[in-house]
Amino acid sequence: MNGLKIYLDKDIDTNLIKTKKIAVIGFGSQGYGQSMNLKDSGCDVVLGLRQGGKSDIKAKNYGFKTMSIEEAVKWADVVQVLIPDEVQAKVYEEQIKPNMRAGQYLMFAHGFNIHFKKIIPSADINVIMVAPKGPGHTVRSQYEEGKGVPSLIAVYQNPSGDGKQVALSYASAIGAGRAGIIETTFREETETDLFGEQSVICGGVSALMKTGFDVLVEAGYSPYMAYFEVLHEMKLIIDLVNQGGLADMRYSISNTAEYGDMTRGPKVINQASKDAMKNILSDIQSGKFAKEFTDEMASGCKNFQKLREENANHPIEKIGAEIRSAFQWGRDKNIIDRTKN
Ligand code: NAD
Ligand code: MG
Ligand code: MG
Repeated sequence: MNGLKIYLDKDIDTNLIKTKKIAVIGFGSQGYGQSMNLKDSGCDVVLGLRQGGKSDIKAKNYGFKTMSIEEAVKWADVVQVLIPDEVQAKVYEEQIKPNMRAGQYLMFAHGFNIHFKKIIPSADINVIMVAPKGPGHTVRSQYEEGKGVPSLIAVYQNPSGDGKQVALSYASAIGAGRAGIIETTFREETETDLFGEQSVICGGVSALMKTGFDVLVEAGYSPYMAYFEVLHEMKLIIDLVNQGGLADMRYSISNTAEYGDMTRGPKVINQASKDAMKNILSDIQSGKFAKEFTDEMASGCKNFQKLREENANHPIEKIGAEIRSAFQWGRDKNIIDRTKN
C-alpha cells in the first residue's frame, strides 16, 4: 500500500470535541448510534428534533436533552446532520441555514448534498464529514463492546483551519479511533459509497441472492434449501472474508467449493456485469442517479414504494421469515484461528 494513513485514538486530540457543543440533527440509524456514543464519551450533545415526534420521544427515553432543530443549531458549535439525504436540502434551507453563524462546523455522514450542490453553505462555515462505514446500530453495538466502526473523514471548507482536527476528534468520540479512520474527500466518499451500495454490498448482493434462490426454486428444489444455500450462509462466508480476506474464506471451504468458486464465479459476474457496473458509476459521476433519486423522493416515492412492495413479497423474504422464527443460531466472533482450527 503506498502510505495509506490510518488514524487511531493515539494520533488524535480526543479532548478537542469535548470543548464544543454538538447538535445531532435526527435520531434515526446514525443519529442514535452517534449521539449515544458521543454522550458516553463525555461530549456535550443535544438532539435537534421535531419536538413531540417519534424520534423526540425515543431520544428523551435515552436521557437526551432535545431542542427544535432551529434552537439546537443556534446553541451548538458543531451541527451533525443525520436526517435522510433526500430531506437535508429542505431542512437546511428552512431550519438550519437561518440559524447558523460564522465559524460553526456543519457536519455530514455522507457527502451527497454537498457534493451534488444541493446544499451550498456560506464560505465562513466549516464543512466537514465523519462517515462511519457501517450501519448506525452497529456504530453503537461495536462501541458498547469496546470497539468501533472504521470511519472516513473529509474536509470540504475550512475557514477556521482546524476542520480536520475536529472531524478526527468527533470520529474518535463515536468509537472510530479504536478501529481506524481514513481521510478522503466529499467527492470520493459520495461516489464510492453510492457505487458500493448500488452494485456490490446492497444491490449486487441482494440481486445475487434473489436470482440464485429463483434458479433453485424454478428447478424444483425446496425453497427452504434454497434459502439456506444462497442467503443464510452468505453471512457465515462473509464473516470469514471480513476477517482475513478471500484467503481465509478459501482456507475454510472445501477444495470442491474453492474450485467451483474460482471457475464458476467469473461466469456469473463477467464482462457484462463489469460493463453494467461501469454504467452505474457513470450515472453516479454525472449526477444522473442523484437527480433520479431526488426527483423520485420529491414526487411522492411511487416507484420506490412499488419496489419496496415487490421486494417484500419475494418468496425469499417469506421463506426467510418463517425459517428464522423457527431456528436459533449463534453468532460467534473470530471464526478462524489458524492455530486452533
Ligand atoms: P434515518 O432515515 O435513520 O433518519 C431518520 C431521522 O431523521 C429520524 O430522527 C427522523 O425523525 C428524521 N427526519 C426524517 N425526515 C425529517 C424531516 N423532514 N425533518 C426533520 N427530521 C426528519 O437516516 P440515516 O439512515 O441514519 O442517515 C442519516 C445520514 O447518515 C445520511 O446522510 C446517510 O447517507 C448517512 N449514513 C447512513 C448510514 C446508515 O447506517 N443508515 C451509514 C453511513 C452514512
Ligand atoms: Mg456506505
Ligand atoms: Mg450510503
